Amino acid sequence: MKRFFIILVTSLLSINGFAFSFTSDNSLSMSDEESLLYMLEEEKLARDVYIELYALWGANQFNNISGSEQDHMDQVEALLIAYEIAYSILPSGEYANSDLQELYYQLMTLGQTSIVDAFVVGMTIEDVDIYDLQVRIAETSNSEIITAYQFLMCGSENHMRAFYNGLTANGGTYSPQFITVEEYNTILNTSSGPCALAIEDYMHPNTKVLSTTLVTDRFSIVLSGRSSIYIYTVNGAMLLSKKVTQNEYISIDNFTSGVYFVKVINDNKSILVKILKD
Ligand code: ZN
Ligand code: ZN
Repeated sequence: MKRFFIILVTSLLSINGFAFSFTSDNSLSMSDEESLLYMLEEEKLARDVYIELYALWGANQFNNISGSEQDHMDQVEALLIAYEIAYSILPSGEYANSDLQELYYQLMTLGQTSIVDAFVVGMTIEDVDIYDLQVRIAETSNSEIITAYQFLMCGSENHMRAFYNGLTANGGTYSPQFITVEEYNTILNTSSGPCALAIEDYMHPNTKVLSTTLVTDRFSIVLSGRSSIYIYTVNGAMLLSKKVTQNEYISIDNFTSGVYFVKVINDNKSILVKILKD
């Protein structure tokens, strides 16, 4: 019997299956270094503020998205580690960058006022985050940084849509302060989806599909951050439920031949894939 694996490659840095296997043409400039250190703290600001706003207002969006911001911090941190850049993660609410420290105080003051203002704070953080990522993507030629920032930006757009729903449900409005009105409207008119999530058929390694795939041996699922995986029979019986971290794989070679459904939840989004075990 052929062995069947689901390999969860949970880092954008390990698409080839080897974490931190950087190619030599990806040198790091001083501005790349500053960019990574800045983005680490900006993602931390988002995480810290959302944790506090969830404690204040109890709206689930803040709870869910703070977990996603931790994933974003992990992505940037992985690059800092890979490029051997010294960094520190200060306690919650503290930032080495004085602009971010000031922004944190301003946003927390506003976020305590009302739940509508708390959602405005969420919108503002995603607004500035998307803008900062756009600027830094344009400034770098390092492909690993671009890929990681695109992942973060996809997440930020999902977050912005989630906060927008919370904001409007509470009667609030928002006008973009950093990205353009056109970009803002495009984001709101696009539906949320999984970020950097793709199924790679092991038999056809250059074929990436985003929804349903059929394989006979094994395949990898390219993900970022922590994920949950569930495997069901065609009748809906759950055979496996597992939280996975980076570079963890799950063997199900004790499963009988047949069709299964694999559900992967990543960054608060889920994808369902049909698989055939030989
Ligand atoms: Zn983020
Ligand atoms: Zn975000």
